[in-house]
Amino acid sequence: MKEYKNCPICNSEGFNPIRNCIDYTVSKETFKIVECESCHFQFTNPIPYENEIGKYYESDEYVSHSNTRKGLIFSLYQKVRNKTLQDKLGLVKHYSKAKTLLDIGCGTGEFLNVCQKSGIKVSGIEPSENARNSAIHNYDLNVQEEEHLQHIKNESFDAITMWHVLEHVYHLNERIETIKRLLKKEGKLFVAVPNRSSYDAIKYGNFWAAYDLPRHLYHFTPKDIEHIFRLHNFKVEKVLPMKFDSYYVSMLSEKYKKGSIKYFSAFLTGLKSNYLAKRNKNNTYSSQIYILSKTEI
Ligand SMILES: [Zn+2]
Repeated sequence: MKEYKNCPICNSEGFNPIRNCIDYTVSKETFKIVECESCHFQFTNPIPYENEIGKYYESDEYVSHSNTRKGLIFSLYQKVRNKTLQDKLGLVKHYSKAKTLLDIGCGTGEFLNVCQKSGIKVSGIEPSENARNSAIHNYDLNVQEEEHLQHIKNESFDAITMWHVLEHVYHLNERIETIKRLLKKEGKLFVAVPNRSSYDAIKYGNFWAAYDLPRHLYHFTPKDIEHIFRLHNFKVEKVLPMKFDSYYVSMLSEKYKKGSIKYFSAFLTGLKSNYLAKRNKNNTYSSQIYILSKTEI
C-alpha cells in the first residue's frame, strides 16, 4: 500500500482520520479516509499501489467497466445512461466548440460513440485493457492507454471530458497539468465527480456508495474542485447537477447498509437530496458536473 505523507492538494503534512469504509463491491477489505488539517480535503490513505489497483476493478458488478445487464439496478442504470449520454453530448456542444474532443477514462466508449456519430473528431484514453478493446472493437474508436497522453500535441482539443474519472486518477496534479497542456486556449474541461457534502452522502455516512474505496482516491466537495483547479490556473465557469446519481447512489448505499435494497427508502432519499440541493445555493447535488476553462493562456 502507498501512504501519502502530504496532502494531494495543498501539500501539508497533518491529517486526521475521518472514516473507515468497506469495499462492498470487490475485495470486502476496509480502507481509510483522512482529512487534511490545513485545506480539509478528504482522500483515501493509504491506497493500493498503481500496479495493484487493477484487481479492485475485477467484478461483474463494477458497471462502468463491464457493461452488464444484471438485475433491476443495472438495467435502470443502463436506461438512464442512454439518456445521460445524450444530455452530456448536448452540454459539450453548448459550452464548447466541440470539433475535437478527448474523453479521459472513456471505459467501453459509449459516450465517444455518441459524439463521433454527431460529427465530433474524438479520441479516448482508457487504462483498462478489456474496456479499451471493446471500445475499439464495438465502435471503431481511437482509444489509447494512459501512457499515450504524453505523446499528444499541445492544444489539441476543444473539449476534454472526465465523467466520474478524476476521483480515480493517480498523480492528480500531473494529470491536471497534462489536461491544461492538451486543451486549446478557449477549450473547456468537463469534470463530473461525486459530492461528499450532498445530503445522501451525509445520510449514509460510511455506507455512502460513492466513497467506493479503494477505487475512489479523492472525495471532493465543490470547494475542493474550485481550490485544486485554481492552483492549476483553471476557473469553474458553471456547475450543473447530475440528478439521477442521487437515486442510483442511494440504492447502492441501501444495499450496503441493509443487505438488500429498500427501493422506496432509496427513492425518497434521492428525491430529498435533489430537492435540498435545488433549494441550496451552494451546489450540493449527489454528483455534479463542473465546466472549467483556463485562466492562464
Ligand atoms: Zn490540504
